[in-house]
Amino acid sequence: MKGIIRKCTKCGTYTLESNCPKCGDPTRLAGPMKYSTNDRFQKFRLEEMEEEEDGEN
Ligand SMILES: [Zn+2]
Repeated sequence: MKGIIRKCTKCGTYTLESNCPKCGDPTRLAGPMKYSTNDRFQKFRLEEMEEEEDGEN
């Protein structure tokens, strides 16, 4: 359960619990996986740009 962040659908509070500590409503996964995916795409893009520069010379 490490690094899994949940978000309350009612008040938007971030928590690691399956229920909001503030209002007690069930929480949803905030999706930390999306961030790592974006990071990968950024790295991939940088590599692509470098290759393009190399081709022009
Ligand atoms: Zn809440």
